[in-house]
Amino acid sequence: MTAARDPQQMTRRQLIRHGAWFGAAVGLAVVGGEVLSHLATAPAADVARPTLRFAQISDSHIGFTGTANPDVTNSFGAAIDQINNLGYTPDFVIHTGDLTHLATPAQFDQVKQMMGGLNTPHVFTVPGEHDSVDDAGQKYRAAFGAGTRGDGWYSFDIAGVHVIGLVNTLNLKKLGHLGADQLDFVEKDLAQLSADTPIVVFSHIPLFAMYPDWGWGTDDATQALSYMRRFASVTCLNGHVHQLFSKTEGNVTFYSATTTAYPLPHPGVGPAPKPLTLPAGQLHDALGIREVTYTRGNSELALKEQRLQ
Ligand SMILES: [Zn+2]
Ligand SMILES: [Zn+2]
Repeated sequence: MTAARDPQQMTRRQLIRHGAWFGAAVGLAVVGGEVLSHLATAPAADVARPTLRFAQISDSHIGFTGTANPDVTNSFGAAIDQINNLGYTPDFVIHTGDLTHLATPAQFDQVKQMMGGLNTPHVFTVPGEHDSVDDAGQKYRAAFGAGTRGDGWYSFDIAGVHVIGLVNTLNLKKLGHLGADQLDFVEKDLAQLSADTPIVVFSHIPLFAMYPDWGWGTDDATQALSYMRRFASVTCLNGHVHQLFSKTEGNVTFYSATTTAYPLPHPGVGPAPKPLTLPAGQLHDALGIREVTYTRGNSELALKEQRLQ
């Protein structure tokens, strides 16, 4: 199992491959395990600037056709444009899964090509269950898995923040599932860090019990979270539920993201989480992007939600 490898052995080559899949112009260096992007050379005058700025997008569902959003390509393109017009270059962009609707090669090609237009040095992803409908994630990993381990999980350090990308969309019964190999990875990955290192965790399905009746939770998340208990600041960002929601449990704050495709009902409203068709003109209000900033010295990350323009 690749998961048995030492987390320290995420090599420079792997990180470069991971960060550079959309172009060769990424100046990514690893020094003492820390990824240094352009922010390491920011001018000294720029002191008020947050230590880390990134954007989250989720659930683009490229390939979806239905009245809930007749043009998901257009709305995903609008989200990319919005990120490219934030007025600064995000240090990275994370897509938290359901990149595609049906995991076809054409859908993966399209979403990858579109994200290549993001103005950022690094694009990271985690898979949604729609990205592995027929092959346990093989096509997903062929397109987006460079530099990852196991079923596509990974971690990296950037600007003093430790980031973990998890895969909880395989081996599903009803709830999300991490599995023993991945839990082992998380435990070893975190063991080397000091407790004041801010931790950011990405997953598609929530790691908290948002609404288990609809599968909106992860059956073995408690185990993963137990390895995070000693850290001062843990921020878990997920997709899948297509709506904003946040919850704090002890040292961990969970934030569900909205989508760029179509809304789903609020938990328990209606019989099932099926795409909602809103009255004409209201769709973009239910879609959006998220900005996340971290400033060294603060314990919390700051989130800013933006409706799709
Ligand atoms: Zn989704
Ligand atoms: Zn999903």
